[in-house]
Amino acid sequence: MTTVPFTDLAAMTKEIWPAIERDYLACLLGAGYIGGPAVESFEREWAAYCGADHAVGVANGTDALQLSLTALGIGPGDEVVVPANTFVATAAAVVRAGATPRFADVSDDTLLMTPETLRAAITPRTRAVMIVHLYGQMPDMAGLLAVADNAGILVIEDAAQAHGAEWAGRRAGSFGAAACFSFYPGKNLGAFGDAGAVVTSRPEVADRVRALANHGRSHGSSHYEHEVVGTNSRLDTLQAIALSGKLARLDVWTQRRIELAARYRDQLSGTGLKLVGVAPSARHVYHLFVVRLAERDRVRVELGRRGIQTGVHYPVPCHLQPPLRRFADGALPVAEQAAQELLSLPLFPHMTDDQVDVVCEVLGYLLPATISPEFTRVC
Ligand SMILES: *Cc1c(COP(=O)(O)O)cnc(C)c1O
Repeated sequence: MTTVPFTDLAAMTKEIWPAIERDYLACLLGAGYIGGPAVESFEREWAAYCGADHAVGVANGTDALQLSLTALGIGPGDEVVVPANTFVATAAAVVRAGATPRFADVSDDTLLMTPETLRAAITPRTRAVMIVHLYGQMPDMAGLLAVADNAGILVIEDAAQAHGAEWAGRRAGSFGAAACFSFYPGKNLGAFGDAGAVVTSRPEVADRVRALANHGRSHGSSHYEHEVVGTNSRLDTLQAIALSGKLARLDVWTQRRIELAARYRDQLSGTGLKLVGVAPSARHVYHLFVVRLAERDRVRVELGRRGIQTGVHYPVPCHLQPPLRRFADGALPVAEQAAQELLSLPLFPHMTDDQVDVVCEVLGYLLPATISPEFTRVC
């Protein structure tokens, strides 16, 4: 039996369905399934939300990353710095674009790339860095941008986990030459299937991504004119309708995530769990609530036995994944140690305070070295 699920996507769907039902059915029965005003209007809303000039809807976040690299002219012979602690797609997109990933270690506190680890990974062949706003938090953007500027390399944001995250009051998506979002159903803004977007304030990058994602057709060219070899990676009309509907709720849902995370932090301090640090300049949107503990695997099994679903993001750092090992260049001790200890606790907008309390009470019980009497109530 599930006591606390890891997430609840159906609750979000139920909440927005009345607002999108008419448009959804009109699209289905009108048979305009590709492109059209719903896609254009979501793209405008999403660019504005991020504080950027353009958004180009694509099929998923991985394509957003790969198409951004290609649109920025990065390919064979070029190196792109990627943090070791990220979803495998960040590095895989670099390889798929024909370039070479170089892995950077992360901060032991935030588990994000730092200016120092970026600097250490840059070589004369480096053309760009993928800054990943992992778990919903942006890293030290001022420091990272200074290092990138100094080295003359491009910044691409992997903002797949960071819809609405901010650094010093500026939104994720507004910093890089291009920023890549995933709208995979479980992300903070999720479609009813796969979807993604590239956000940029450089018109030529937006045009190039749009052409690459639509069989190489340029703006104004006919259906049968193809100026580059592209692919098919478009945002579906039905997904755009769902995304506009959810975007209207995103700030409320994010606020709830932040409240739930504060409740976790409060109750978990003193249990011996290590919490991920949050920088004062960051607005953390808590895509994931990640803790660290030495006995991760045992505790995860015990939580599962009590109906509490958890995740691990990520158990193997990218540079140790078999197909990416050939790009590894030595050990990255912080990322490697963290991978043994990371545990993602349930956190989703429709989670109740009671559900947070249950998770914290069970965790307190399972960590006997730090047991406190009130934590034993439910067990
Ligand atoms: C989800 C995710 C991606 C990939 O997005 P998809 O839409 O699943 O292709 C890339 N990077 C990070 C950090 C992610 O969390």
